[in-house]
Amino acid sequence: AREIHLLAYPAGEPQPGDFTLVERPLPEPRHGELLIRNQAISVDPYMRGKMTGKRTYTAPYELNAPMEGRAVGVVEVSRDPDFTEGTVVLHDAGWRDRAVVGSGHVRAINVIDAIPVTAHLGVLGMPGRTAYVGLFEKARMRGGESVFVSGAAGAVGGLVGQLARLRGASRVIGSAGSAEKVDYLVNELGFDAAFNYKDGPVVEQLSQLAPHGIDIYFDNVGGDHLEAAMAVANPFARFALCGAISGYNATEPQPGPRNMALIVTKRLMLQGFIVTDTSDATADFYREVAPAVADGRLKFRETVVEGLENAPEAFISMLRGANTGKMVVRVGT
Ligand code: NDP
Repeated sequence: AREIHLLAYPAGEPQPGDFTLVERPLPEPRHGELLIRNQAISVDPYMRGKMTGKRTYTAPYELNAPMEGRAVGVVEVSRDPDFTEGTVVLHDAGWRDRAVVGSGHVRAINVIDAIPVTAHLGVLGMPGRTAYVGLFEKARMRGGESVFVSGAAGAVGGLVGQLARLRGASRVIGSAGSAEKVDYLVNELGFDAAFNYKDGPVVEQLSQLAPHGIDIYFDNVGGDHLEAAMAVANPFARFALCGAISGYNATEPQPGPRNMALIVTKRLMLQGFIVTDTSDATADFYREVAPAVADGRLKFRETVVEGLENAPEAFISMLRGANTGKMVVRVGT
């Protein structure tokens, strides 16, 4: 198998030299194991946190070992009667082209013709569930509320804005890092307004686009975005704190918002969450989102990088904003 290993924990922005491609033979699958040929693997922002060498809410990656990550693949050899060879599956042995995996850690994918299997790494997978859980269960968004989401042109953010529209938000505002992404949000995903956070202070751009304030903020970015959302928030606004990507490559702890006192005076609710704590929500998520994706009411995009050897570059460039929608790496057929 060909595998990407981490050679060193990056300081600051990861560099291609922090990773290496290793080729090594796989063991024969034993009873209860499957040999899986990966079709596509996921690179996600949370992986940066596993490259620090410290335990956060998950264990860090080990150096000189294959990294974990979500992948979709095909069962080539099965030693479990519940999985026939040829079944398309979702599992955690990503960052490689083949793997032997215990069948208890593998889930068969319900393949729908209209939807590429890679959607299970994005809109129908962990990022999609994150959008759903954060918006509806954590921020408890209701119809008639105005919603702001940062990182809006990414895998999670693009779905947050569209779900808010479907549930009857009064106004949906997004921020992203380029003019093309702003155009995509407004003209393809149906956001009411969007801005490029690189064009000027977030607080100024947000207040202009939200003259009546915001009731819900879905935070993917942290930093100046969080501070701006607190400044523009209406009393009793509810924030789902999903991620803080603006600080993921920082070498020092990042300062908090300077306007923290607004949490008290505006009676704000800020709720952090980790999607893997909330498996109960999966059934609702899938029931509501899968049909809407299949019939086009919910749109999604993927940025596809070809070749396992390019996975480190895909990961590094995703952190810089090279993706619109979900960043995936195609590693085989
Ligand atoms: P995305 O598809 O959104 O990709 C990351 C994006 O982040 C880039 O495309 C880039 O877009 C943006 N970005 C990078 N640096 C900055 C910056 N300094 N300021 C603003 N934006 C920046 O990734 P995901 O949708 O997978 O994840 C989005 C967020 O959700 C992340 O914070 C992630 O950690 C979090 N997350 C949390 C989960 C949980 O359980 N709590 C689960 C899954 C994800 P741009 O061009 O707009 O800058």
